[in-house]
Amino acid sequence: MKIKQKDKEQKQEKRKVLDEEAKLKIKQKDKEQKQEKRKVLDEEAKLKIKQKDKEQKQEKRKVLDEEAKIRLKQKNKEQKQEKRKVLDEEAKIRLKQKDKEQKQEKRKALDEEAKIRLKQKDKEQKQEKRKVLDEEAKIRLKQKNKEQKQEKRKVLDEEAKTKIKQKDKEQKEEKRKTLDEEAKSNTRKKTRNQMKEQRAARTSEADNAIQTFLQMIKQGPAYICSVCHRLMYRECVVLYNENVFTTYV
Ligand SMILES: [Zn+2]
Repeated sequence: MKIKQKDKEQKQEKRKVLDEEAKLKIKQKDKEQKQEKRKVLDEEAKLKIKQKDKEQKQEKRKVLDEEAKIRLKQKNKEQKQEKRKVLDEEAKIRLKQKDKEQKQEKRKALDEEAKIRLKQKDKEQKQEKRKVLDEEAKIRLKQKNKEQKQEKRKVLDEEAKTKIKQKDKEQKEEKRKTLDEEAKSNTRKKTRNQMKEQRAARTSEADNAIQTFLQMIKQGPAYICSVCHRLMYRECVVLYNENVFTTYV
């Protein structure tokens, strides 16, 4: 039993030693692996840094190229602007010259047009005057017509008045006519009597005249003209007086 125990213990001891060795070996291996890894990582890092440097340089170059390009473009642009300015100046001078010539042309044309317009204006003013005169003549005619119409109206009014007067007169006459029969007969009787009286007066007057005439012609035409031998009544004869005639001659 003791041997077995001893063996066991020895084996356990060996195992421990082995374990220790194994542990050491593993540790060593780990260390080496770590160092390897570190080396590899360093290499990679170096490579990466180099790569980065390269890229940065390329970037810088690109940036510089871009800047150079931009500068070139700017320069080109400025040169073009300069050229344009020069061209613009020349163009401006040419334009000014052209403008001047066109203005002179226009002035000539305007002078001609102004003359024509003046003539046209004169013509139009004359026509206007004629129109105004015509208008005035028309107005005068209208006034005259109006006055004539008023005159006619007055005449018509007058005629209407006289017509009314005539009508009044006729109506009065009608009234007079329509007086009752008695009044008429009365007036008739009256007038008849008046007529009788008048007639009587007239007859007496006539009788008187006849008596006078008869008295005058009683002696007959017994007087003879010494020139033509005509017979005459005493009333027609004038006694010849020689003295009267000698004074006339
Ligand atoms: Zn006689």
